[in-house]
Amino acid sequence: MMGSKVQYAVIGLGRFGGAVTRELFNMGREVLAIDANEDLVREYSAYSTHAMIANTTDEATIKALGIKNFNYVIVAIGDDIQASILTTLILKEIGVENVWVKAQNEYHHKVLEKIGADRIIHPEKDMGTRIAQHLVSQHVIDYISLTEEHSMMEIKATDKLAGKTLVEVNIRQRYRCTVVAIWRNAELIMTPLPGEVIQEGDILMMIGKKSDLTQFSEKEL
Ligand code: ADP
Repeated sequence: MMGSKVQYAVIGLGRFGGAVTRELFNMGREVLAIDANEDLVREYSAYSTHAMIANTTDEATIKALGIKNFNYVIVAIGDDIQASILTTLILKEIGVENVWVKAQNEYHHKVLEKIGADRIIHPEKDMGTRIAQHLVSQHVIDYISLTEEHSMMEIKATDKLAGKTLVEVNIRQRYRCTVVAIWRNAELIMTPLPGEVIQEGDILMMIGKKSDLTQFSEKEL
């Protein structure tokens, strides 16, 4: 009988796939680790629920693994772009709901998009973007690109912002950004009202254009 637990499978246990596998396992998640390399599979048997040797470019092999019903399959095959594409194609063809794939470059990205990858990840590019934001302001806690133009940014409220209401700072009008939530002492305040008073140490979750978010962090933090 199928359990109700969310099931994850990671294909490719290099640096990226390996880190994903370990983190899921450390969080107590059910994770199947797959690689064509026997040594890696042996190593990861200690950091996964199951670890299997398989070449995922073979449809019969994928079917035999029974990962059709897994909730998330992460394709973390690195340099072998052809293998990554073929694996993704087979996973989508057999009906895996969420296939997240690590892309090597823009061409790889385009093909993955076409064949129905649900999320395409560029680990180095994404990390680079975040690090740049941290360099510019140590008050920026997290930064996620939503589109080429828009981002979500989490910032820590400084004493400069503390004591003011959202409407006083006038974030909407002056910076065209929206505060979608505030974290305060482990409590999440969703869609805060304009009269909400910002407290020092609050974490503001904001959405807006990248250039507008930059302006906000330069002027208000
Ligand atoms: P990273 O840059 O994240 O370290 P790597 O390219 O080093 O990525 O790792 C990719 C992993 O994917 C390797 O361990 C490799 O054995 C595995 N891999 C490559 N092709 C296949 C395949 N067809 N089936 C299963 N695993 C594969």
